[in-house]
Amino acid sequence: MSTKYTWALLGILTLVVCELVTVVNSNRDEALRIMENAPVIDGHNDLPWQLLDKFNNQLSKVNLLTLNDTHTNIPKLQEGRVGGQFWAAYVPCATHGKDAVKRTLEQIDVIHRMCEHYPDVFVCVDSAEGIAEAFRTKKVASLIGVEGGHSIDSSLGVLRTFYNLGVRYMTLTHSCNVPWVDNWLVDTGSDPPKSNGLSEFGKSVILEMNRLGMIVDLAHVSVKTMKDTLEVSQAPVIFSHSSAFKLCNHARNVPDDVLRIVKEKKGLVMVNFYNDYVTCKSVANLSDVA
Ligand SMILES: [Zn+2]
Repeated sequence: MSTKYTWALLGILTLVVCELVTVVNSNRDEALRIMENAPVIDGHNDLPWQLLDKFNNQLSKVNLLTLNDTHTNIPKLQEGRVGGQFWAAYVPCATHGKDAVKRTLEQIDVIHRMCEHYPDVFVCVDSAEGIAEAFRTKKVASLIGVEGGHSIDSSLGVLRTFYNLGVRYMTLTHSCNVPWVDNWLVDTGSDPPKSNGLSEFGKSVILEMNRLGMIVDLAHVSVKTMKDTLEVSQAPVIFSHSSAFKLCNHARNVPDDVLRIVKEKKGLVMVNFYNDYVTCKSVANLSDVA
């Protein structure tokens, strides 16, 4: 190739690269502009579990500004413009029928203490107005979701007490059956069906959550549970961290027929960015998520 052609080619390549950089920059600018005006709300974050696991919930032993062996720290939340965060009050299925309620209360407590410990960054809220107010003051509105119906120990009194402590969603199951509702492992065959979706008591849990104003979260449940709940619930439901079954046939994801009902009932699926659920592979990128 002559030098003249090489220079011409380089010129074209430079133009293409400049164009791409402009597109990337303008997309980034546009994203930042949108996030200036509308809070990004993340439906599920397991940091409280990490606080228990790594620091036994002792906030004096951890600095969330510099913590770097978890997905989340304060600089990342701020750079990602996270305006609202549901923190998961999760305790393992093994606590079911034992100390699940006490352990869940301790996870709710560590979330409250996180807000007190970093008052310039977090503010614990329990309402839409609270989120809007936090956004105005550039703080991360911190909300609580209990991950797993085993946490209420089949008690509506415990459910109501969680609400009074600020819990605003409950995931009906984690990865185990609860006496009144079946989890996603029923669909893989590794757990036997127990309630065949929601039991009669399960239906009363949903109606009590509706009455209180606690969001019903269907991440982690079986497809029959999804359908039963969508029929019973008087309020829209969410999937706080699930992806699309049509794109990756993992039983934690939402199948198309359910997605259609969710749309009809004005519910919400908050996409889980976990590679295994996005692409069914060990790698996934933002385009896959989109
Ligand atoms: Zn989960």
